[in-house]
Amino acid sequence: MNDIPLVDLKTEYRAHRKELLQAWDELCESSAFILGKPVEEFERAFAEFLGVPHVIGVANGTDALELAVRALEIGPGDEVIVPAMTFYASGAAVKLAGAKPVFVDVGDDGLMDITQVARAITSRTRALLPVHLYGQPADMAPLMQLARERGLAVIEDCAQSHGATYQKQITGTFGDIAAFSFYPGKNLGAYGDSGAVATKRPEIARRVKSLRVLGSSPENRYFHELLGRNSRLDTLQAVVLNLKLRNLPSGNQCRAEAAKKFSEALRGVPGVSLPTVHRDRSHVFHLYVIQVPQRDEFLKRLHAEGIRAGIHYPYAMHEHPAFSELGYSPGTFPTAERLARQSLSLPLFPAITDEMILRVTSAVRKIASELAS
Ligand SMILES: *Cc1c(COP(=O)(O)O)cnc(C)c1O
Repeated sequence: MNDIPLVDLKTEYRAHRKELLQAWDELCESSAFILGKPVEEFERAFAEFLGVPHVIGVANGTDALELAVRALEIGPGDEVIVPAMTFYASGAAVKLAGAKPVFVDVGDDGLMDITQVARAITSRTRALLPVHLYGQPADMAPLMQLARERGLAVIEDCAQSHGATYQKQITGTFGDIAAFSFYPGKNLGAYGDSGAVATKRPEIARRVKSLRVLGSSPENRYFHELLGRNSRLDTLQAVVLNLKLRNLPSGNQCRAEAAKKFSEALRGVPGVSLPTVHRDRSHVFHLYVIQVPQRDEFLKRLHAEGIRAGIHYPYAMHEHPAFSELGYSPGTFPTAERLARQSLSLPLFPAITDEMILRVTSAVRKIASELAS
């Protein structure tokens, strides 16, 4: 029996292989490799998908976050509040911009705990950085209200939430600016690194546009206004994204349907906690994350069954040596730490079949009962 991969990118490639190779051939023949029409076309299409006036393509999701922080003129001496359970880049981007990430614990759903956020605000806090982790929107209504009351900016990390909605509003349109990653395995993924920021605010859009081309003035190319970086969205990747954006809604729907089947098959299995889906949100299931005790042994046994489950993420933010000078001690964020020890991501991708789901859920049931006895 074949292994079931955590993510299958090949099936989707084969579905649009011909069209893609032709578009890539045209681009290579034109030799217009930097920015140009495919990038502009994607920026326009993704802006329309989100319903915002400005999307600016950048080199990856980490740069999108860093440039978002910098475009808000947040830097040395400033604090940005970041959840303690997320991918490392959410906190690193704040530090790379020269500001200080301040971590707060998350709820059992992995999403930023708003009561903790309120307590972490100081006179230096400039922004809140919610992460729509695993594909489920953070609790944006109280978060936006808190930000308004305290005069704080909001930067959304949408790297896992392309198309997810909160009270019918799409993620990436709540805050001042949003960062997206199109890393290959994301719900909208390119065939290499790429990312984008989205914003309603023209002055922020203008700054990101300059920052991604070394701070060059939009009106005067070799005159540099800001200390930017070279972080353009690669044109070959924009060609892929233009093709794949069309399939994003149906891909998200396949993920949500597969997730529902997982939850139906695994409900009530002793020792296995299933992902919570809040009723006021649509969850696009970038990841289907369960929590199990003896997680590492559980994972080993799944791998032995040919099921390539994974871990997102094995460390809470304050456990990374890269953040050690922030001075957090173990035990500071108990829920984030527990998720780091107990989370396990089951294989999930739009082309997953019922047969694969059955194999995965049967293995999870079997291993859970073995480990319980
Ligand atoms: C993937 C991801 C990023 C970083 O994106 P890259 O394109 O890999 O740089 C940031 N935040 C979250 C939550 C992510 O999942």
